[in-house]
Amino acid sequence: MSMNQKQKIFLTSIILITIIITSIIAYSITASSIQKSDKIKIVTTFYPLTYITQQIGGDYVEITQLIPNNVEIHNWEPSVSHIRATEDADIIFYNGAEADHWMEDEILPALSTSKNRTIVETTDDLTLIINNEQEPDNEHDHDHGLYDPHTWISPYMVKQQAEIIYNTIVTVDSQHEEYYTQRWHNLEQQFEQLDTAYKNSLARTSKHSIFVSHSAFGYLANRYNFIQQGVIGMSADEQPSALTIVKLIEEMKKDKKYVLYVDPVYSSSYIQTIQTEVQTQTGQSVMVLKLYLMLGPIDGLDYLEQMQTNLDNLQTGLGAY
Ligand SMILES: [Zn+2]
Repeated sequence: MSMNQKQKIFLTSIILITIIITSIIAYSITASSIQKSDKIKIVTTFYPLTYITQQIGGDYVEITQLIPNNVEIHNWEPSVSHIRATEDADIIFYNGAEADHWMEDEILPALSTSKNRTIVETTDDLTLIINNEQEPDNEHDHDHGLYDPHTWISPYMVKQQAEIIYNTIVTVDSQHEEYYTQRWHNLEQQFEQLDTAYKNSLARTSKHSIFVSHSAFGYLANRYNFIQQGVIGMSADEQPSALTIVKLIEEMKKDKKYVLYVDPVYSSSYIQTIQTEVQTQTGQSVMVLKLYLMLGPIDGLDYLEQMQTNLDNLQTGLGAY
């Protein structure tokens, strides 16, 4: 055997041993990660769906939320990393009604078809409000959906979405049915209590419409009988024009309504302009109150607490008695 042959055999052995060791390591990593993640992997698009999924799924779900908390959702766009994060999911929950239209447009078509996933548009069977809002600004040119997408703001609407989430989780993981069912009943009860509180507290009011920065409260207005007038409309991504502001100030003066609603997620410097203008022109003090869009925990409040605060502030603005 020449020195060269010996070297070859030696090298081949080293390579073979390396391959064997690498395979063993790879196998044990795979085996341990299978054990670790026997939780159901769920991808949600934004906060309320995450909150509901967590309330129902508890210890047996691992949730990945695509839109970060407290980010404007209408013009958010996913990146390649979001497609990768969705690839692994056992269940995908999205709102639908165009709130997270990129799920159907960009993410779902990009996923591999080899994995078995349950994909649920949680508003699919709900009775939605037609979005017939007149845009206050015409320079708006992106697409608006046919329906008002803001279902999660209403306890009555979102309870139906939550029931669909519950049914899906129980079907995918029937082993823990009792656990999920108990948690679902608890959540269902909280939504029902909120719906009743909204109905009772807003049954008698001295005013019947409110001025909001973004028209996201249609499902509340529809169910509890008031009217929302939006400054920047349904898509909420732009500043209102000077003309819009002037018209709004005239309406407030005419209707003698001195409350404006804002959400902390949106920039609202124009709200101060309106507030100052109306105060100067009428001598009346104008109140600025919060109506949360519930796109993340904020002001130390979680989803249901924000729903309760919205009710408190609506009672004030509508003059409930
Ligand atoms: Zn919105």
